[in-house]
Amino acid sequence: MSKKSLKSIILMSMTLIACGAPDASKQRAIPTDRDVEAQVEQTLSKLSLDEKIGQMCELTIDVITDQSHADSFVLNEEALRTVFEKYKVGSILNVPKGVAQRPETWSTLIRRLNQLSMETCAGVPQIYGVDQIHGASYTWGATLFPQEVGQAASFNRAIPRRVSEVAAYESRACLIPWVYSPVMDLGRQPLWSRLWESYGEDVFLNSEMAREAVIGYQGEDPNHIGPNNVAACLKHYMAYGVPRTGKDRTPSSITRRELREKFFQPFRAAIETGALSLMVNSSVNDGMPLHCDHELLTTWLKEELAWDGMIVTDWADINNLYSRDHVAASKKEAITLAINAGIDMSMVPYEADFCDLLREAVEEGAVSMARIDDAVRRVLRLKVRLGLLNNETWDFTPEQLAQQFPKFASTDFAQEATEMAQECMVLLKNEPLKVKNAQLGNEGEPLLPLKEGTKLLVCGPNADNLRGMNGGWSYTWQGDRTNELAPQMGDYPTFATALSDRFGPANVRFVEGVRWSKDNFDKDEAVDIAAAAAAARAADVVICCIGENSYCETPGNIDDLALSANQRQLVKAVAATGKPVVLVLTEGRPRIINEVEPLATAVIHTFLPSNYGGVALAQLLVGDANFSGRMPYTYPRHPGALVTYDYKPCENMGQMAGNYNYDAVMDVQWAFGHGLSYTTFEYSNLRVTTATITASNATVPDASASGPLPLAFSPSDTLTFTVDVKNTGSRAGKEAVLLFVSDLVATITPDNTRLRAFDKVELQPGEQKTVQLSIAAKDLAFVGQDLRWHLEAGDFSASVGGQKVELHCATTSIFK
Ligand code: BGC
Repeated sequence: MSKKSLKSIILMSMTLIACGAPDASKQRAIPTDRDVEAQVEQTLSKLSLDEKIGQMCELTIDVITDQSHADSFVLNEEALRTVFEKYKVGSILNVPKGVAQRPETWSTLIRRLNQLSMETCAGVPQIYGVDQIHGASYTWGATLFPQEVGQAASFNRAIPRRVSEVAAYESRACLIPWVYSPVMDLGRQPLWSRLWESYGEDVFLNSEMAREAVIGYQGEDPNHIGPNNVAACLKHYMAYGVPRTGKDRTPSSITRRELREKFFQPFRAAIETGALSLMVNSSVNDGMPLHCDHELLTTWLKEELAWDGMIVTDWADINNLYSRDHVAASKKEAITLAINAGIDMSMVPYEADFCDLLREAVEEGAVSMARIDDAVRRVLRLKVRLGLLNNETWDFTPEQLAQQFPKFASTDFAQEATEMAQECMVLLKNEPLKVKNAQLGNEGEPLLPLKEGTKLLVCGPNADNLRGMNGGWSYTWQGDRTNELAPQMGDYPTFATALSDRFGPANVRFVEGVRWSKDNFDKDEAVDIAAAAAAARAADVVICCIGENSYCETPGNIDDLALSANQRQLVKAVAATGKPVVLVLTEGRPRIINEVEPLATAVIHTFLPSNYGGVALAQLLVGDANFSGRMPYTYPRHPGALVTYDYKPCENMGQMAGNYNYDAVMDVQWAFGHGLSYTTFEYSNLRVTTATITASNATVPDASASGPLPLAFSPSDTLTFTVDVKNTGSRAGKEAVLLFVSDLVATITPDNTRLRAFDKVELQPGEQKTVQLSIAAKDLAFVGQDLRWHLEAGDFSASVGGQKVELHCATTSIFK
């Protein structure tokens, strides 16, 4: 782009954009706190332009690390002076040396940086940001929990809440104030290497789980982050999870309509819950890099939601506007575009010349002082809300912190992580035995749970692989050193070890069969498939642990969604012995297994259960615990048939009104929401009512009676569904109760169905509970071509656990 055209764009955008300050007449996403605002204003008034610009700059710890020390972490004193004294940099990120650090290393580092930055920048400390996801995952010895996709499979809101609470607690034990979590990209592209970081494919599930994570991290009052809490950072805004090719950071092409209806919703929900910061999608949607999309950053987020939080870029993404996306002809132009679009802080992360160039842009009038002040207010507000400027708890010594956080890495947390790992696994298949077997049971009985004394062959590349169980962002970015590091931190049995502990070493043989190659996460080697098959003959049951090794972001890109040929070969070889095979899937995305799934009697999806997954799996297999997870995404059967459960009717070729089930033409391996249990649940008596009972809807339709009138509702109603759920089996169990609603006719082809509410209940054998689920009628609306929400008069159908009820919306309503 020529200088001239740049200038006209800048001028145009400067007249078009307000600086993004939230509209005072609107109800703010986070209530305004007078004391917070006063401190922000008072601090802002003391800052020079250079100091303000420094607040908008975030650098990686590498920049201030003395790289001449290969093994230990030492700060580079000269670089420290440049970064803080010269550039007044307001934020540092990332883990030193790229590997988990001990709490005392973290706190000593952050304390030093806080002190130095306060001395050099008008008393404003830097804010340190770290990818502590699924627990304090860059901290030596911290408690690691199932990754987000597994948390989603629990359909239990208490899990993301508690994971985040503990992650916050263990981060505060390190003085870390800010974590880049939760991820709420909709995981709707199975090839994508970050699917496992999300809460799966559904809008509502992502929204609900992200809300809980925000409260878990931040506590209940976003204006005053408590002493055990940290600031959350929602990411990656938005449509990052649906690259057309499946490759990380490659373009998506989602229309504004669909962005608003689906991708924006989880961010809106989390922001309205009080999230303090947000990170932007690195990529490009519909040709536009998100980092310079003023409408999406400023109009939608800051103005419409009246949100006064802070927007940070992803890694080097302002530079990418110039060097990769070619929407800017220079770095300075890229900075100008991004800051004017609404970016408040740049994760630069290497070159402090961001500060020089932004200063020039301000002096040249390309970026207004109003925009700078708005951005800096947002950075300062985050710091003030965290209490960074005046809270002595941010100056604790390692000794004080050890006293203050006695539960760091405690056995209580480990116990919670184990129970969560149980609840985050999904029993996908559990077929009956074809013939009576003295050890396994009678013909017709399901294979699982296994009885004490069962002889097991445990095989597969994930049988003895903590790396695969934990996934990426575990001790290192790629999670590639977990097998070496985790055993130094705690007793974390792998699947093979935990099964040996539980069934007895004499009953368990471990023969790998296939092993991960050292040099590439997606390559494996057949080491002793024949030996595994021979061992299978001597066992009662084969536990075959397959899937993926750890990876993260672009290095995790793949060209083929199929499970590797070696692993397929292993399954075939052990199945050929005639012994029942249990497939244990541990993988960040659904690798196609249609060739080997029919050979298995049972299949379990563990997602990425982390360090306590081994114990959890052993307890589930033997029936000490029961399964209760359900699929948070659609598991495809064919690589060329990748769909989500909320597909459009015409996607179900040949069966236009088809249901999303195993008989339909839509041929998936396992449906969203699928999951079995060792017990059985019966649903009955689905009823629905509105908050305001009127003559027309006083007759509550009965799902079991023939031909009831549909319940009439209006857009302002709340619909309350109740359904009786009974445990009709002989074991205690938890049941995720999922309510789906379909809009039957609409001016835009409606989604086949949508998850609109869920809850989880625990039932003893024979016990029945009435579960109540409520929906605001307006949440059944869709976004029309005009980008407004439409709830149209007409018929809807709701279903829970096979029970159905018809509804009728009496009037059309259109709203923003
Ligand atoms: C990732 C982000 C992460 C950031 C900082 C980026 O490469 O996309 O998710 O928070 O690095 O580590």
